Amino acid sequence: MTATRVLVLNSGSSSVKYQLLEMTDGSRLAAGLVERIGERQSRLLHTPLASGGERRERVEEFADHEAALRAVSGELDADGFGLGSPQLAAIGHRVVHGGQTFTRPTLVDDAVLAEIERLIPVAPLHNPANLTGITTARTLNPHLPQVAVFDTSFHTTIPEHAARYAIDTATADEHRVRRYGFHGTSHAYVSRKAAELLGKDPSEINAIVLHLGNGASASAVRGGRCVDTSMGMTPLEGLVMGTRSGDVDPAVVFHLVRVAGVSVDGVDELLNKRSGLVGLCGDNDMREITRRVGEGDEAARLAFDIYIHRLKKYIGAYCAVLGHVHAVVFTAGVGENSAPVRRAALAGLEELGLLVDEERNDAEREGPAAREARIISPEGARVAVAVVPTDEELEIAEQTYALVSDAGSPVRH
Ligand code: AMP
Repeated sequence: MTATRVLVLNSGSSSVKYQLLEMTDGSRLAAGLVERIGERQSRLLHTPLASGGERRERVEEFADHEAALRAVSGELDADGFGLGSPQLAAIGHRVVHGGQTFTRPTLVDDAVLAEIERLIPVAPLHNPANLTGITTARTLNPHLPQVAVFDTSFHTTIPEHAARYAIDTATADEHRVRRYGFHGTSHAYVSRKAAELLGKDPSEINAIVLHLGNGASASAVRGGRCVDTSMGMTPLEGLVMGTRSGDVDPAVVFHLVRVAGVSVDGVDELLNKRSGLVGLCGDNDMREITRRVGEGDEAARLAFDIYIHRLKKYIGAYCAVLGHVHAVVFTAGVGENSAPVRRAALAGLEELGLLVDEERNDAEREGPAAREARIISPEGARVAVAVVPTDEELEIAEQTYALVSDAGSPVRH
């Protein structure tokens, strides 16, 4: 039996999200998540998409990732798709940090695991959980190919002058302090889809991709290769996000530590969890913020304006970095759904060739049409402005499947 299915796993510190895809047509066979792993009341939600069956819920203790993944495998088994199924070609794992080492998706072996582990100091929040997901999946089926797909890989083409901070070189090199960028899987997928939408090969276009979700990042992509991105050594740099500040003067940290007496961990928590939109107005959901703006709420208005101002600065900067821009592309929760954000971000940028057609921008899409890429600039505009729904799971699955087939790796069970 040909193995044409890929399980995509995204292992967080206390959760695991998964999707099972059929690669012959890209369809989803099942999807789910386990949350609160390690707690007394963990919860597994499983949706058997292929059969159109009811979503199933299990609330019980999953003591660790192994227990959680065993339960996931059990749910998949019940649908006829378990980890031992001969149709399963591989598991594709989202790994947040691949440093400078991993420039592409990589078939996991012991050396790869050791390298992901070596990167833990630069990704202490994410890589340990990603590693646990891989090692656990290996334990459950040692013969199944496991592929690591890195959030940083798409950004490894960024030239040194954009990737380095202007700090002492020896210190930076010793501690691997440089800009790595994140959301790479999304930026890669969306920039390729944008080229498709314009009827071009990715090598023929320069695009600015704006991934605006709860986390947010911008990238400048020249001919299919990333040349700059807004996130840096960690996902804290750059745009204003749901709970993260994005760019701040680093001396703010010294000030808070020395003068305000906040601990280093306290500043870390402040900038990552209590800043951005939530820090500015108490809400991090753009739907709620735009609703409040409509009611004349001043804190929401200021939060919206700060968010847009930062976004506009990055758009302008990437126009300068690229020189000639063919497309500006909005994606992720806010980028795909918020017409007010798209309109405000490009307002006043007509001189740069950036125009939004109001009717196209406001057109509400529902059902499958909401997942279709579309142009929202006027007919004949110099730069195409597009909305391209991202699909990180599909991208991880495709990269995984391509690698397993390309490597000629025998799919063993
Ligand atoms: P993501 O991280 O890509 O899942 O995006 C999540 C964010 O998208 C939420 O926090 C909301 O701020 C935003 N979002 C989702 N749906 C909408 C919508 N219809 N309008 C505005 N913002 C939205």
